[in-house]
Amino acid sequence: MVKRETLVKIRSATLFLSILSLIVAAVFLMQFMISSLEKKEEIQTPVEVLHKVLFLYSYTPLYYTYDAQISGLKKSLYPKGIEYDIIFLNSNEYDDADYSLLARYVKQRLASKKYEAVLLGDDKALNFAMKYHDELFQNTPMVFFGIGDYNLAVNAAKNPFMTGFYGTDYLDETVNIATKLFPQKKTLVVLRDESTSGKNDVRMFWELKKKYKDYTFIDLDASLLTQTELIYLLESLPSDSMLFYMSCYSDKKGNTYSILSRTSTVVRAADVPVFRNYIGGENMGILGGIHMDMEAQCVMAGNVLAKILNGEKISSFPLVEKTPSRTAFDYSLMKKYGLDFSLLPDDVVLYNKPANFIDQYGKILPSVLMLVITMSLVIIYSKLGKKIAENFIKELQKSKDDLIEREEELRYHAEYDEVLDIYNRRTITDWLRDTMTDKDVYSVMIIDIDDFKMLNDNYGHSLADSILQYLVAMIRGIGEENNWKIARFGGDEFLIVIPNMQITMDCETVKSLFEIIRSPIPLGDETLAVTASIGASCSDGITSPEQHIMNAEGAMYEAKNRGKNGIVIYDDDMKKKALEEIAIKEKLLRAFDNDGFFMLYQPQIDSKTKQVSGYEALVRMKEPGIYPGQFIPVAERSGWIWRIGRITTELVIKQLASWRDAGQELHPVSVNFSGNQLNDHGYVDFVEDLLKKYDIPPHYLEIEITEGLFLEKSALADDIFKRFKNLGIRLLMDDFGTGYSSLAYLTYIPVDVIKLDKSLVDTYLVDGRDSFIKNIIHLMHDLDKEMIIEGVEEEWQFERLRDFGADTIQGYYFSKPIPANEAIDFKVK
Ligand code: C2E
Ligand code: CA
Ligand code: CA
Repeated sequence: MVKRETLVKIRSATLFLSILSLIVAAVFLMQFMISSLEKKEEIQTPVEVLHKVLFLYSYTPLYYTYDAQISGLKKSLYPKGIEYDIIFLNSNEYDDADYSLLARYVKQRLASKKYEAVLLGDDKALNFAMKYHDELFQNTPMVFFGIGDYNLAVNAAKNPFMTGFYGTDYLDETVNIATKLFPQKKTLVVLRDESTSGKNDVRMFWELKKKYKDYTFIDLDASLLTQTELIYLLESLPSDSMLFYMSCYSDKKGNTYSILSRTSTVVRAADVPVFRNYIGGENMGILGGIHMDMEAQCVMAGNVLAKILNGEKISSFPLVEKTPSRTAFDYSLMKKYGLDFSLLPDDVVLYNKPANFIDQYGKILPSVLMLVITMSLVIIYSKLGKKIAENFIKELQKSKDDLIEREEELRYHAEYDEVLDIYNRRTITDWLRDTMTDKDVYSVMIIDIDDFKMLNDNYGHSLADSILQYLVAMIRGIGEENNWKIARFGGDEFLIVIPNMQITMDCETVKSLFEIIRSPIPLGDETLAVTASIGASCSDGITSPEQHIMNAEGAMYEAKNRGKNGIVIYDDDMKKKALEEIAIKEKLLRAFDNDGFFMLYQPQIDSKTKQVSGYEALVRMKEPGIYPGQFIPVAERSGWIWRIGRITTELVIKQLASWRDAGQELHPVSVNFSGNQLNDHGYVDFVEDLLKKYDIPPHYLEIEITEGLFLEKSALADDIFKRFKNLGIRLLMDDFGTGYSSLAYLTYIPVDVIKLDKSLVDTYLVDGRDSFIKNIIHLMHDLDKEMIIEGVEEEWQFERLRDFGADTIQGYYFSKPIPANEAIDFKVK
């Protein structure tokens, strides 16, 4: 697709060009109009009449010379301010010899008018003027033209008041061309009458006999023939003849014919080429000829007259014997006879030419052409406009499509989890809120893969993702037909909405769900088994969808608390718990703001010496009736555990300082460090600062870290452990035995002391099983780890553990956690 910018450029160029061509068209059109106007101007009367002259013409306006003469006179006279009146002498009606009647008529006409000069247009007029010059036109200059009688012209020119132009016949030239055009035709026929010019014609014709000796000459005198006889003779002309149609306007009966009438008779009757050496009869069937250019002669005559009127002497204008000729031939007849056009002179006028386009429209053509170009350009312009519009729409459409595509992509990003190709948390929340009402029957489930963090760390993210994808596919497999909605609710958490069903702990749906979750996941050659903790909340007609999600989440945590790999359905008990949690949160927040915590110290007793070897610091809230087992998990879930971590650490260091300041012998005090505190990046610096501030040697502070955190092997954990070690703080592994049973990791984690969890003591420190505890103690010693045994409540337990080689005992048997002042003075009884 052509760029829109390009199209716009082309379109602008088109507009520019169309305007340009329109201007050119307008210029051409104006030129055309001016030239037409100029033509019209030729026949207008003079703007200002300076002179008035008289034109004497023997015939009528129908006579063949009239138009050409008038045209020539107008051209030459009008521009010079000379106006003429015409007197048609109608000389045919008068006797040649006696012009007296005519003279009387002219005299009458002249009585009221005065003319400065007289123009004479033919032989008869010249004769008349010569005869009556003194009587009618005394001292009036006269200019004649179109005179056929040479002697008459010569005589007239002798009159001091007269000058003029002899009307050259061009018969010789016409015959010359004719014989060349038709070399085969050897008969030359002249057609003329008995008029002055007709007699002159035949005289000239016979003179040519000398030149064309082997030609037959025939003279047809129309004055001796009736019209019918003439036609008969013309029809019977020999086929090798050429007719020279000359002055021939009268017949035997004395009728006078107009040039049009006579010409049409002649050309119709004669079946031979008709030539004519006089003006007139063109386009009627005459082949052609050379004749005097009557108009040109009259222009010359007019110019001479004007000069005379301007004061030039008549004597300075002698008789002009030769004036320009005009060769004119009928194009169609030339063609018809198959004649060679090259025999005609270059300046030939070809008439009756089938008008070709240029001839007909040549002058208007440029403007028409330009208009056509303009129109085309305008059409292109508008088409381009359409095209641009179309392109623009296409582009719009395209960008719209792009946008839609992008939008879909964005919507997908916003709504879907890319890795699993299922709804994300927000979408499912919105969907539930928008779709489900309190009255609908459905269940919401949140599935959390147990210990997924470990899977992630052990197998890498992409494999962990594959595991999730596999699980989603499996869950879809059972959920699809029941219209389950599956969404990723968190990292390793799914939310499932099961419509039209209130699940129970042991219903088929839950069973099959656990079945597919627990069934081994193929990982290449190996398989992997995972478990999940599921929390669920079922519709009850009053609870909102959002609340169901929160309930299911709570139930899921409860399932984790209850040992994972199981399902908890939210119930009234949990509801109570949830309400309690809210209350605890409020208490925690109050405690943070109001110094609401204090520490108890549980003494740790050296089993050999029964002396206090250290303390575990355990936090308490000042508000009565709320215990660490309650508020610590809430603080963990609320993300507030780091605050407790800092508070306890500061309280402990202050306590150490205060004991020291009180002169007491110090023992190491361990503080608990929760896994969620790893995010408190400033904690190590905080500890270091406090130790410096209170000037407490770092080895008096110990950090208890749960087994699980060591197992995570996260870079963050490793870093913190390293920093504690660098500070000189010992690390204790809390709750050993509750997590993962692999002992291999103990060989490389930076832990100094292992605290055996109470649950192991309770389970194994019984008859027949206690060697397990003994072996662990020995193993730890082999690994250079100290052992603290927690939860020792009975004397026999102590004694047996002591016998097994346990280093330190911490338990109710010796002391519960006690206030600082008691703890520092504590002595085993
Ligand atoms: P833990 O870290 O395992 O702490 C030992 C718990 O066992 C303490 O409970 C202690 O009082 C109890 N205990 C000690 N000897 C015996 C015994 O012989 N029999 C019985 N039944 N219990 C015994 P406590 O103080 O209620 O703390 C419970 C848990 O709360 C702690 O377990 C610890 O995980 C958390 N906790 C307590 N204080 C803090 C603290 O300052 N920071 C953090 N992060 N957690 C704390
Ligand atoms: Ca502890
Ligand atoms: Ca513990």
